[in-house]
Amino acid sequence: MTGGGIRFDRVTVAYGGNTVLDALDLTVEPGEVMALLGPSGSGKTTALRAVAGFVRPVSGRVYLGDRDVTGLPPHRRGIGMVVQQYALFPHMRVQDNVAFGLKANKVSRPEIPGRVTEALELVGMAAYAGRYPRELSGGQQQRVAIARALAIRPGVLLLDEPLSALDAQLRSGMLAELARLHRELPDVSILYVTHDQVEALTLADRIAVMDRARLQDCGTPQELYRRPRTEFTASFVGNANLLPVTVGPGSVAFAGHDLKLPTGDAATGSTATLCVRPHLVGLGDGPNALTGTVSEVQWRGSTHRLYVDVDGHRVKADMRELRDTPALGEKVTLHFASEDAVLLPVHPARPAVENRTLTGGARG
Ligand code: ADP
Repeated sequence: MTGGGIRFDRVTVAYGGNTVLDALDLTVEPGEVMALLGPSGSGKTTALRAVAGFVRPVSGRVYLGDRDVTGLPPHRRGIGMVVQQYALFPHMRVQDNVAFGLKANKVSRPEIPGRVTEALELVGMAAYAGRYPRELSGGQQQRVAIARALAIRPGVLLLDEPLSALDAQLRSGMLAELARLHRELPDVSILYVTHDQVEALTLADRIAVMDRARLQDCGTPQELYRRPRTEFTASFVGNANLLPVTVGPGSVAFAGHDLKLPTGDAATGSTATLCVRPHLVGLGDGPNALTGTVSEVQWRGSTHRLYVDVDGHRVKADMRELRDTPALGEKVTLHFASEDAVLLPVHPARPAVENRTLTGGARG
C-alpha cells in the first residue's frame, strides 16, 4: 500500500492555451477525506485526473507521499479510482471485474481470489460475485466499482461524483456506506469530487472550494460554514445573506443602520460584504437590529423563511415554525449576534452574488 497522502504543488493544467486548473496548491493528509467542491467546469475533475495520471500538468508537480509521480503512467501510481458511470465491464462477472485490476497490478494468481472476496466483503457484495453487471442495481454496480478500486489496496482513493447517477434515497444510503468504508480503511486518503455541498459537508474532513480553475478556500466543513473567507464560499457552502456595508471605526453601516461588528483590519471608509446565515437572524428587537418590511413568507415544514426588504436589500431569516407569521408588507425588526456575522472582502467580479444560479450550492 502506498500511503502518505497527496500533494499538489502549483499544478497547472491547460487545454489549447485555456487554463482549466490554475496553480493548485493543496495537500491531502494520510487518511484524510478531502472534498473538491465547486460548480460544474471549475476544474475539480481535472485536478483528480492529474493525480490519477490521465492528464499531464503544463507545470507543477503531483506527489503521493514523498514520491513525485508527475511523470508516472496511471497504472504505476497504485491509485484506486471510481467514476460516476461505474465503468464495469459488462461481459465480465462481478468477481472478474474486481480481479481485473489485480491482474493488471501483477498480483500473483493464487492470491487473487482471496483479494477479490476481501474487497467485495468490504462493500457488502460478496454474495453477488457470480453475477453480471446488468443483473445489479445502480447502487450495487457502484459498490462493485468501489470494490474494484479497493482490491489493489490503494493508499489513495479517487472518487469522481460517485453518487450522482443514483437516485436521492440510494445516494443517502451510499453516503453512509462511504463513511463506514472510510472508518474501516482509516489509512486511505480520499479525494472526493462533488458539486453537492451535502455530500461534501457529510463526508469530508476538509473541503477545498473550487471556482473558475482556482482554489478559493479550504478548511473543515465547520470552518467554511462559520468563517467563510470569500463570498463564493459563503454562498456555495450553506445559505447566506451577503449584504453590502461600509466600514466605520468599530462598526459598519448597512442601509441606514449602524451595526456594532468587529471590523478587523478593514480600512475605515472601505466597502465590505457582511455575511450572516439566515438561521442566525432572529425576529424582534436585539443587537444589530434591522428594520424592514416583509416581502415574502415561506413555510418549509420545520421552519419559516421570511424575506424582509431592508431599504431595497433582501434579508433572509429562517426560524422554527412561527405561531404568528407576520403579514406581507408588515414592518418588522430583525437582529443577529455580532459573533454570528463575518465581514468579507467584496469580490470585484461577483457583485450580484444573491442573483447567481449555482449548481447544487446555495438554495433559496
Ligand atoms: P469540473 O470537474 O469542475 O466540472 P472539469 O475539470 O471537468 O470541471 O473541467 C474544467 C474545464 O476544463 C471545463 O471548462 C472543461 O470544459 C475543460 N476541459 C476538461 N477536459 C477537457 C479536455 N479534454 N479538452 C478540453 N477542455 C477540457
